[in-house]
Amino acid sequence: MKKNLIAGAWTGAADATSNSNPSDLSDVIGDYADASVQDVADAVSAAHAAFASWARTSPEYRSDILDRASAEILARKEELGRLLSREEGKTLAEGIGEVTRAGRIFRYFAGEALRITGERLDSVRDGIDVEILREPEGVIGVVTPWNFPIAIPAWKIAPALAYGNTVVFKPAELVPACAWELADILNRAGLPAGVLNLVMGRGAVVGEAIVRSPLVRAISFTGSVRTGRQIRLACMENGKKMQMEMGGKNPLIICSDADLDTAVSVAINGSYFSTGQRCTASSRIIVEAGVHDRFVERMIAQLADLRIDHALDPATDIGPVVSETQFEQDIDYIRIGQSEGANLAFGGKALERKTKGYFLEPALFTDTNNGMRINWEEIFGPVASVIRAGDYEEAVSIANDTAFGLSSGICTTSLSKMNDFKHRSAAGMVMVNTPTAGVDYHVPFGGRKSSSHGPREQGAHARDFYTSLKTVYVTS
Ligand code: NAD
Repeated sequence: MKKNLIAGAWTGAADATSNSNPSDLSDVIGDYADASVQDVADAVSAAHAAFASWARTSPEYRSDILDRASAEILARKEELGRLLSREEGKTLAEGIGEVTRAGRIFRYFAGEALRITGERLDSVRDGIDVEILREPEGVIGVVTPWNFPIAIPAWKIAPALAYGNTVVFKPAELVPACAWELADILNRAGLPAGVLNLVMGRGAVVGEAIVRSPLVRAISFTGSVRTGRQIRLACMENGKKMQMEMGGKNPLIICSDADLDTAVSVAINGSYFSTGQRCTASSRIIVEAGVHDRFVERMIAQLADLRIDHALDPATDIGPVVSETQFEQDIDYIRIGQSEGANLAFGGKALERKTKGYFLEPALFTDTNNGMRINWEEIFGPVASVIRAGDYEEAVSIANDTAFGLSSGICTTSLSKMNDFKHRSAAGMVMVNTPTAGVDYHVPFGGRKSSSHGPREQGAHARDFYTSLKTVYVTS
């Protein structure tokens, strides 16, 4: 059994959960400890006890540890990418890509640790100097989802440690293997005991205990809107700082002047790659009437060419859905779409392959309107809808008519539409002629409305969450 990491030691738990491969249910990846509420209390105490000395370490000391972790992650990217694909079901290329990204994130924040700045201003009063310092917050609770099992933990843990915080990390139930490897790498990279603690297990037990602990100063959460809402209320009651990244219902506008090859490849990548299980996936494809029929015809032709199979098969374009629950949810939404009167123009059927897994044909709905549940609720699977818009103005208003606001996209060759959409899109990230999913790690990531709450993640702006400002007045 792989154990939890508490106070620098791998410690047992009474219970464990085994983790299986969604491409091949007979392939069991391992047994992972289920932490108890007492384990969480021990992990939080260890992180609290480790904080004062970790916060005072030199930036170079922290930077070196992050750098060593980065080097190991990058050196093992093939092996870890394979584990990720086995565990989560994205293709091997996507798995290796995600691990590479995690390695680069640690390298980026190894650099950021050396760039922690303050400010000095002249006081409005004579004889006083004013300084603004940035200090670490304390113990950070990191609660993560299953769809990016190593990159999301990396983009929370790396800045937390770089700025001098200690961490209690709870990964999603479906993906403990990647989390365990990451904790092991960081532990061996030289983190003092208690600086990073791993507690695996159920959200309602382990997650809840972290969120409610009075010693945890701040929570960085990525996951569903429903869990995010619960955690937000708990954080408010307990006076914690919070950063929440939640769902999306991301629009992609295809203008009548778009380059059709670009538009189709952007739509297929954004809607279906990583099995559509990306918070930034394009789920509403809003197509101007002038190009609608040609676009749909080309989409269907290219969807028919995609190979859906075992994630580790190099010829696979799209791997399985992550779990039975998610698979059932996708199938339910396909039924809901049909009952709402949408036309299932392609796919949507369960597929049988050599191995038993959760294989689902990518589904494309046409003849939909923005009020349908399939266009309003996050499905989080390989399911997308086409919404016909009379013109560009109508397309923009449909794009913004959503409770979410994470990512948005437009395919156009018109400079004025690009510029106009860039300003009018009500999303935190706007993509022009490029998929709504797929972002850089050195710039802010996050959304608006129901998609996000609190400061942005990634890049230098991550410091706004992981540090606290202190204003000092000195009369010398
Ligand atoms: P989820 O909300 O079910 O779980 C997320 C994490 O919260 C898990 O670790 C879970 O165990 C934990 N959790 C559950 N209940 C809890 C509770 N009561 N208290 C504390 N923790 C609790 O989400 P998921 O199914 O793992 O991930 C899919 C969701 O994540 C989708 O909605 C997707 O859009 C979202 N997501 C968002 C982003 C983003 O950056 N906006 C990125 C990736 C995924």
